[in-house]
Amino acid sequence: MDAQDVSTDLTEVLYTKEEIDAKIRELAAQIDRDYADKDVLLVGVLKGAIMVMADLARALQSHVTMDWMAVSSYGSGTKSSGVVRILKDLDADLMNRHVLIVEDIIDSGLTLSWLKTNLESRGPASLEICTLFRKPEAVKVDIDVKYVGMDIPNKFVVGYGLDFDEKYRNLDCVGILAPHVYQ
Ligand code: 5GP
Ligand code: MG
Ligand code: MG
Repeated sequence: MDAQDVSTDLTEVLYTKEEIDAKIRELAAQIDRDYADKDVLLVGVLKGAIMVMADLARALQSHVTMDWMAVSSYGSGTKSSGVVRILKDLDADLMNRHVLIVEDIIDSGLTLSWLKTNLESRGPASLEICTLFRKPEAVKVDIDVKYVGMDIPNKFVVGYGLDFDEKYRNLDCVGILAPHVYQ
């Protein structure tokens, strides 16, 4: 086997490429139905949401536009710092637009609840959230997430956009990192 094969750094694959693809198509079908008579602006949260955004956008039948925002709430470790910073703001004006935030994962919900308040103040016609993964903690937070791909265990996961120290985003599956990687 290739010594560079990053998948050997996983102890367990939680979701395969095929399972993720199927879930993305389900979410897209739902979104297509709900936005049948509206133009939607997809707002991807960099960098984690890049894969979800790319696959979701291509699975949608409706006209969409895409914009990106970069916020930071995690350092290089695995714990939320509790501080949200805008690293890159949107180019688009949200006034009277139908906005759908596209996220990779909701853990504490901290980032998203901050982001929702921030974007709501820009006067969108509607504002909804789509996330591929949601952890148990997030359920306790009072944010209405309209589209949830999968509820996952309270473990630190990597792959499909999700990183550990900026690595593993390019895995096409999602899994649990082996302790030898971070110990
Ligand atoms: P939250 O503010 O909801 O705790 O999480 C904010 C961000 O932290 C997520 O959008 C994601 O980028 C990152 N994050 C949360 N949980 C995980 C995880 O299990 N693995 C990785 N790689 N990133 C995570
Ligand atoms: Mg994210
Ligand atoms: Mg990260």
